[in-house]
Amino acid sequence: MTSKLKQALMSYMAGNMTCKAVTNVITDYLEGALPFWDWVRFHMHLGMCFGCRNYLRQMKQTIKTLEKLPSEPMPPAIRDELLKRFKDWKR
Ligand SMILES: [Zn+2]
Repeated sequence: MTSKLKQALMSYMAGNMTCKAVTNVITDYLEGALPFWDWVRFHMHLGMCFGCRNYLRQMKQTIKTLEKLPSEPMPPAIRDELLKRFKDWKR
């Protein structure tokens, strides 16, 4: 594969990921469960999109805050609910 072709492919893949797609896969990304190409597209989109960078930062902060809560771990149902609300936030 030539580097030119690779670049064309990269920008094609990057262009394919919308803000909505980013918000859909952000939890997978944070859990490290994103497939390679989605990970690449995710990062390429973040490079171009301030809104999604901001969104990711807030998401990370929220998770950090949740993890810092004392003693009892957050019940998975509440954590899921919070993540769901985050996903709806951009709509
Ligand atoms: Zn975006």
